[in-house]
Amino acid sequence: MTHKSVYLLSTALLLLNIKVVLAEPTLKDPQSASPVERSLTNSVKWLRTSKEYKFLTESIYARASKSLAEKALPATPWTVVMDVDETILDNSAYQKNLDLTGGSFHPTTWAEWIEEEDADLVPGVAEFIQVLFEKGGLLTMVTNRDRAQDDHTWANLLKLGIPVTEQNTCLIGRAKEDKAKIDGIEIINDKDLRRQAVTNGNASCYSTSGKRHSNFPKAEIIMQVGDNIEDFVGVTQHDADVKSLIKKADSEYILLPNPMYGSW
Ligand SMILES: [Mg+2]
Repeated sequence: MTHKSVYLLSTALLLLNIKVVLAEPTLKDPQSASPVERSLTNSVKWLRTSKEYKFLTESIYARASKSLAEKALPATPWTVVMDVDETILDNSAYQKNLDLTGGSFHPTTWAEWIEEEDADLVPGVAEFIQVLFEKGGLLTMVTNRDRAQDDHTWANLLKLGIPVTEQNTCLIGRAKEDKAKIDGIEIINDKDLRRQAVTNGNASCYSTSGKRHSNFPKAEIIMQVGDNIEDFVGVTQHDADVKSLIKKADSEYILLPNPMYGSW
């Protein structure tokens, strides 16, 4: 078609008020403008689609619930400390998007994802938290999401039907001091300071009022739940003694699978 023909055709379409819309590629290679087809990494595909993942998380949480039901529970306040990401909330939709766009983790896109409050639940966790509350326990969430984002984490959980209140749950995101206070003696990993605050009764908990509160009771930690070995008190990826930790598996230490990322 000649330039003149194109011009005449365009003019005719305009006169007929017909809009010509060019298809926009939804995914673009960051290096070029051309659309690319990318597939999911095995870890993201496994976590999002496999029956094995659901089987594992459901059965791990069922064993943890059974363990709570059979425990001799303290007469004084007690709590289960849980990590959030890939322990309570499933962020594989964020990971999937990284795979499909050829991106990698970045604090900015991660913050945007948290603000969307659109993470899903890890299979089995809702039932476990229900048992925890029925038994009279307190929920402590120690997460390495930024503390300033606690409001989004809280809203995401409520949206998913997790019945957190300021009375039954203390949510503590990470602050600068959590890393700065690591001394290798009392504070081994970046969650130890917050766990210590819970047992001392001076944890800084998220409040919907916008001002943090320290009204959470001094509580004994009877169980720790995470997807990372460092979700357990005094443990680092480098020094973790798995043989020793595993003696308390199911009763005190509950570990969920996460092949997408970790401290390994
Ligand atoms: Mg985690």
